[in-house]
Amino acid sequence: MVYIKQIELSHFKSFGGTTSLPLLPEFTVVTGPNGSGKSNILDALLFALGLSSSKGMRADRLPDLVNSTYASRSRSTVETLVTVTFALDDWQPEAEETEEGEGTGLQPGMAEWTVSRKLRVTPSGTYTSTYAMNGEACTLQQLHEQLSRLRIYPEGYNVVLQGDVTNIISMSPRDRRQIIDELAGVAQFDRKIEQAKGK
Ligand code: ATP
Ligand code: MG
Repeated sequence: MVYIKQIELSHFKSFGGTTSLPLLPEFTVVTGPNGSGKSNILDALLFALGLSSSKGMRADRLPDLVNSTYASRSRSTVETLVTVTFALDDWQPEAEETEEGEGTGLQPGMAEWTVSRKLRVTPSGTYTSTYAMNGEACTLQQLHEQLSRLRIYPEGYNVVLQGDVTNIISMSPRDRRQIIDELAGVAQFDRKIEQAKGK
C-alpha cells in the first residue's frame, strides 16, 4: 500500500521552526484546539503536491504561506520548505503504463519516495517556487506526471477539505460524475479520446 509516511514543514504558516510529522499506515487522526494548525498540515501537503492556487491553501497570496513571525524578523530572503515522504511498499506501475520513470521518478522496488517544494520570498515581495523529487530539482509538470502514477492529483479529491462535502452534495449529477470519473482514472482516457478526435 502507498501511504504518506511523513510530512516535514519548515516555516510553513503557523509552524515557526522545522516540524516533522510521522503518519501511520491506514489511519492517522490529528487533534488539537481550534487554530492550533491542524488544517495547516493539510495545506502543507497540498503545497508540496504542487497546488498552484494559494486560495486552495487558505492564503491570499503564496508569500502568506511563510510563517509570519519568522518573515517579519528577517530582512533578507525567507523561505518555506515542505517535504512529503511516501512509503511505496509493494507499489507497481499500472500494466498499461509504457513510460519508464525518470531517475528521481517512481521506480518499482523503491521503498520511499520524497517530493518537496520550496518557496523563496525576497524582501521586495517577489517569490519563486521550486520542486524536487528525491532531493533533485524537477519541474512542476514532472512532479505531476509522477504523482498521477500514484493517482494523486493536487486539484483532485485525495484531500477533502472543509466545505468540499457540501459542494459535492449540491452539485449537478453531471459534475458529480466528472469527479467519480477522475477518481476512477477514466477521465484521462476521455481526455485522450477528445485529443485524438481533435487531430
Ligand atoms: P480549527 O479546529 O478551527 O479548524 P485548525 O487547527 O485547523 O483549527 P488552522 O486553520 O490550521 O487551525 O490554523 C490557523 C492558525 O494558523 C491561525 O491562528 C493563523 O493565524 C495561523 N497562520 C496561518 N498562516 C500563518 C502564517 N503565515 N504565519 C503564522 N501563523 C499563521
Ligand atoms: Mg481546521
